[in-house]
Amino acid sequence: MVSNAVNSLSPLPWQHDPWRNLTEQHRQSRPAHALLFVGARGLGKRHLATALTYWLLCQQPQGQPPQACGQCRSCRQLHSGVHPDVQHIAPEAADKPLKIDQIRGLSEFMQHSSQFGAYRIALLDSAERLNPQAANALLKTLEEPPAQRLMILVADGVAGLPATVRSRCQRLNFSRPASEQALSWLRSQWGQHSQSFPADATPELVLSLAGGAPLRALAMAHSEELTQRRECFTDYQQVIHRRLSPDQWANRWAKQPQIGEWLLTWQQDMIRLKLCQTPPPRLAHPDLAESLRQLSHRLPAERLFAQLQAIETLPRLLSAPVNVPLQLAALLSRFL
Ligand SMILES: [Zn+2]
Repeated sequence: MVSNAVNSLSPLPWQHDPWRNLTEQHRQSRPAHALLFVGARGLGKRHLATALTYWLLCQQPQGQPPQACGQCRSCRQLHSGVHPDVQHIAPEAADKPLKIDQIRGLSEFMQHSSQFGAYRIALLDSAERLNPQAANALLKTLEEPPAQRLMILVADGVAGLPATVRSRCQRLNFSRPASEQALSWLRSQWGQHSQSFPADATPELVLSLAGGAPLRALAMAHSEELTQRRECFTDYQQVIHRRLSPDQWANRWAKQPQIGEWLLTWQQDMIRLKLCQTPPPRLAHPDLAESLRQLSHRLPAERLFAQLQAIETLPRLLSAPVNVPLQLAALLSRFL
C-alpha cells in the first residue's frame, strides 16, 4: 500500500468530513462497493484510500471518529505490504496505461473469499489511465460485485475514465484545503525532515509551487525539483539575454518532466506582475518575483499574452511523437 513518512492510520486534517461520511456509511451497513477518488495530485487521495483500508481490515478499530489501531495482525500485515486481502495495482511506468492483464488478475482476486472473514479491497491507482480493454474488463467486476468487496479507484482526473465505469462508483471529489490549514500541516511535517531540504525551501514556497496541494509540496521539498527549477530559470534568463542559445537550453532541459509547467507558470507570473503592481500579486514562484518582474518589463502585455498562448500549446505538441528538444527550442526562438 501507499506509504510515506505521514501517518497512514488517520485521515489528513482537511479530510475529516469525507472520513466521517465514509466510516458512517459502513457503520450503517450501507457501504458502496466501489469508490472513485478524484482530484489533483498531492491532495491526499491515496492517503485516504490507505487509511480506509487500514480501518476496514483492522481487528480492533478505536476512537471517535474511528481509525485503525496500528497494532493488530491486520494492521501489521498492511504496514509490511503483505496483507492477503488487499491488492494494489498501478501503471507499470509513468507514461504507461493500466492493462487488461492487471484488471483480469484483480477480478480474479476479488472473486475469492477474504482470508480473515473481513473485506477484500482493491486499490486501482491512476484509474484515468485504464486502456479501453482494461476498462471493459473492469466493468464486469463492477457490475456483479460479491459481498464484502471494495474497489477504490484513484484518479487525478476523469477525462480518460469511461462514463460506464464512473457511473458504477460512488465519487468523492478532492479539493485544495484552505491555505492556512495546508501550511499548518506542512509546518508540522517540516521539523522532522527540514535538515535534508534545500536551504531556500520553506512551507510557504513549496505550497505555492505545488498549487496548494500539501502532499505534492512535501514531496517537492524532498526532491531535487526546487534546485532544478532555479537552475532551469537561470538558464532561461540567459536565453532571453542571448547568452545561451534556445538549442542549448532545450537540450539541457527537455527531459525534465516539469518543464512545460514551469514555462507556463513563469509566464503567468510575468503577466500578473505586468498587470498588477500594487498590491503585489500572488505568484506561483514568489522567490523569483524580482527576476520575473524584470523579464515582464521588457515586453508589452500583448506580447506576454501571445507567448502564453504559444506555451499553452506545448502539452499537445509534446504528446505527439516529436523531437522534444527541437520543439522547445523552436518555441523559445519565437520569444527572442
Ligand atoms: Zn488494527
